Amino acid sequence: MISKIKIMTRKEFVKICTLLGISIPFQSVLGSCSSDDNNNTIPTGFSGKVLIIGAGPAGMTAGYLLAKRSIDFEILEALPTHGGRIKTNTTFADFPIPLGAEWLHVNRNIFSEIVDDDSVTIDINTTPYDTINDIAIDSATGQQITFEEAGFTIDQKFIDSSWLDFFQTYIFPDIRSRIRYNTPVSTIDYSGDQIKVSTNGGQTFEADKVIVAVPLKILQSGIITFTPTLSNAKTDAIENAHVWSGFKAFFEFSNKFYPTIVGYDIMPAASGQKMFYDAAYGQNTPQHILGLFSTGLPAETYISIASDDAFRDFVLSELDALFNNQATPNYIRHISQNWNEEPYARAAYLSAYEDSTLVNVLGKSVSDKLYFAGDSYTTGSDWSSVHAAARSAIRAVNELVIK
Ligand SMILES: Cc1cc2nc3c(=O)[nH]c(=O)nc-3n(C[C@H](O)[C@H](O)[C@H](O)COP(=O)(O)OP(=O)(O)OC[C@H]3O[C@@H](n4cnc5c(N)ncnc54)[C@H](O)[C@@H]3O)c2cc1C
Repeated sequence: MISKIKIMTRKEFVKICTLLGISIPFQSVLGSCSSDDNNNTIPTGFSGKVLIIGAGPAGMTAGYLLAKRSIDFEILEALPTHGGRIKTNTTFADFPIPLGAEWLHVNRNIFSEIVDDDSVTIDINTTPYDTINDIAIDSATGQQITFEEAGFTIDQKFIDSSWLDFFQTYIFPDIRSRIRYNTPVSTIDYSGDQIKVSTNGGQTFEADKVIVAVPLKILQSGIITFTPTLSNAKTDAIENAHVWSGFKAFFEFSNKFYPTIVGYDIMPAASGQKMFYDAAYGQNTPQHILGLFSTGLPAETYISIASDDAFRDFVLSELDALFNNQATPNYIRHISQNWNEEPYARAAYLSAYEDSTLVNVLGKSVSDKLYFAGDSYTTGSDWSSVHAAARSAIRAVNELVIK
């Protein structure tokens, strides 16, 4: 619908989406108002072996759908854990702290869309923001702004739960025996009938088809090589895509002196995103936890700070300036998550301002053998979120089983 979002300002885009009654995620998907890849009817007909590389939301969704079709598959995951960028901390607070994906950017129906089973009742608690009574302020002016201006419309917080909990409860049980952990893939040779996949450690695997479900930055970094090399169009799209750095932190305070959201108008908008927000919003907790979310240049500013103590002091001085010196005396402790230093993520996600035609190339399959599933490999109408990753997996599996 909107193919050249780069010529549209954020406010214009917000207005169009609002008129259409569509949510706009704060940190993603300025590439479109519409949902992506929304067909989860899976035809059968393919009966070979599939290897899925990566056990994040996309890889897990793909495996789950293959399992439902009784198709033989294995998921090769580099880390000793699954989840990827929906990693969650369960020790800092008395509710789960999402170190990566935190909000549900679309309607709750996405849960049933992924599970694709009418007999399953989804018991995941989320809450929308009270956009009338909650307060968002503009960091530059200190003035109150609407949630729409802050980028939040129907976005929801998970309550005592997380995206990881959703996958853990409804998807993981059907695929747990098929995940091979500590298996970092380094080469994919699709020159012959059977695709040969190997790891740095010398393990090799064979399959008829492969679903690549690793973050785009992993392909940009050359961690996985392809034989034969991917087409020029695909290689150019991978190399030219702008992936934002990512950094989050959570601060516990003895007092809640901050509003629900403090929005930053980053200029130019395509250079990144930043906000402080009430991370304990809607939770049944006595703890006061403030979140810091940053991507792109704002994230790099935090990442470049030499020590954790210096980082803490930097943030406290930012907050003291915003909130009349209330941060430092109320500070208790903090944790942080630098996504750039995670060896199998290396960044946050594809820029919200990427060209949709480039994203569309990223999502295309190769030679009826390689399929791409994940938040960057979509049809170009939505990207950089868990729901976009899951929907791209649905599309990849649909495509794979009919070819
Ligand atoms: C700071 C931050 C905030 C975010 N906030 C939100 C949000 O609020 N809402 C939202 O919807 N989304 C959010 N996202 C985006 C969301 O986390 C991603 O869109 C989603 O996790 C993408 O899923 P994926 O399966 O494509 O990739 P990932 O989650 O990255 O999973 C990829 C998997 O592949 C594995 N892997 C990588 N390389 C290899 C290899 N060589 N061999 C084998 N395995 C490999 C990784 O270990 C990982 O398990 C956020 C992300 C970040 C970083």
